[in-house]
Amino acid sequence: MTEVRLRFAPSPTGYLHIGGLRTALYNYLFAKANQGKMVLRIEDTDRTRFVEGAIEGLIQSLKWAGIDYDEGVFMEDGKVVEKGDYGPYIQSERLDIYQKYVDQLLEDGHAYYCFCSKDRLDHLREEQKIKGQIPRYDGLCRSIPLEEARERIAKGEKAVVRLKLPENMDIKFHDAVRGDITINTNEMDDQVLMKSDGFPTYHMAVVVDDHLMKITHIVRGEEWLPSTPKHIYLYDCLGWEKPQYVHLPGVLNSDHKKLSKRQGDVSVEDFKNRGYLPEGLINYLALVGWSPKDNEEILSMKDLIDQFSFDRVSKAGGVFDKNKLDWVNAHYIKELPIDDLVDLSIPELVKAGLISQDFAQGHRDWLKLLLETVRESLSRIEEVPEKTAFLFGDLEVTEEEAKDQLASDQIKDLLGALKEELEAVDQVDEEFAKTVMKRIQKKTGIKGKGLYMPTRAAITGNVHGPELSNIMELLGKDKMLERINQILNK
Ligand code: GLU
Repeated sequence: MTEVRLRFAPSPTGYLHIGGLRTALYNYLFAKANQGKMVLRIEDTDRTRFVEGAIEGLIQSLKWAGIDYDEGVFMEDGKVVEKGDYGPYIQSERLDIYQKYVDQLLEDGHAYYCFCSKDRLDHLREEQKIKGQIPRYDGLCRSIPLEEARERIAKGEKAVVRLKLPENMDIKFHDAVRGDITINTNEMDDQVLMKSDGFPTYHMAVVVDDHLMKITHIVRGEEWLPSTPKHIYLYDCLGWEKPQYVHLPGVLNSDHKKLSKRQGDVSVEDFKNRGYLPEGLINYLALVGWSPKDNEEILSMKDLIDQFSFDRVSKAGGVFDKNKLDWVNAHYIKELPIDDLVDLSIPELVKAGLISQDFAQGHRDWLKLLLETVRESLSRIEEVPEKTAFLFGDLEVTEEEAKDQLASDQIKDLLGALKEELEAVDQVDEEFAKTVMKRIQKKTGIKGKGLYMPTRAAITGNVHGPELSNIMELLGKDKMLERINQILNK
């Protein structure tokens, strides 16, 4: 059986968009589900859109997300390297390869040189628009004999190479999501295959590379569907076996429009910086446009690989729902090993000015307890400062309910008893924190809500929150006394 081979082929024009990550993910899942290989190829033939550092960024985002592809471009010691038997994997390094196949198409009469100037083409397009026609090349240079064209180029004239589409021919192909598709060549344009600077266009390069890299399945965004008939025709001209096509519906925002930068974060880097875990983002993204058989929602990469198939990819665009993403991410935060949670949280706490780097180094156990205490309430790592701020600095009582609790008749007795308990020990350890409330209950006779709510209000400023004994341990003796005195001396 032929080996299943897929590729993700981004252009280095900026960051990795969340929709691009989903495309990469579906490629990866299908490759792994079928014991196949996944290639990362860089499509950089449009030099005007090249962004410095974009290749590195794409590789790092994929690595962070856990898309562990097999071949293509990687980063090693801070440098981009290429690995695999079908390289080079960066299109600008493959120009002579494309030239060879463009020459073949010219020789076989499937392509021709076009000398039309930009001015002429602009003018033609304008005229066609005015007449209400679809703008397309009018074929002026189609009949120039190849020899004559070559002589003109040798004399210094500039030309592009265009695909010579036959008239009125149906081009058919099957898409795993969209089904059978037929397009007539009368609705298509004589696509430019090679620009005058010797760079191929996307259409030429993608077909040559997918063939030479033995790609069996092309999984990409549906914005490429209109290009596919051109590719199909090129495969036929070159006598090559065609891959299978899978065009994925878009990732949409809540108004069912394409998810775009204007509505907020769209780059994988943004999601990483906001404290989404790769496991959470990947799990959620997999579900945007695909569903597992039993509609399970929490799926690890391994579960996804086990269950993924193209027949459950939906035709309609998938709506990207941040609340659902938060819910999935919260699940993975709960499962994260505590040391990892601490490591991810330290930069956030430092950035918020709540702790210093030095403090973080000397207080690992305290930080572990801190994060164990609040992790249930976290959807994203960036929330750590806001969820823990009540433990730092002076007591702040802003909640009305907390103020009411602190105004209760029994508050003096309660806090007085707690103060006495605190003064009798060297430090607040787990044993003290877990047993002190029982002793206060005995001493004061105050029970239940009347016992816990005012105490919590006095030491945290709120009436609700995480485990009280943990909070006592985190605050420690001095800070608790300080807060109690702050209330008693008012
Ligand atoms: N280079 C194209 C992009 O940037 C890839 C299209 C394809 O997968 O064929 O999306």
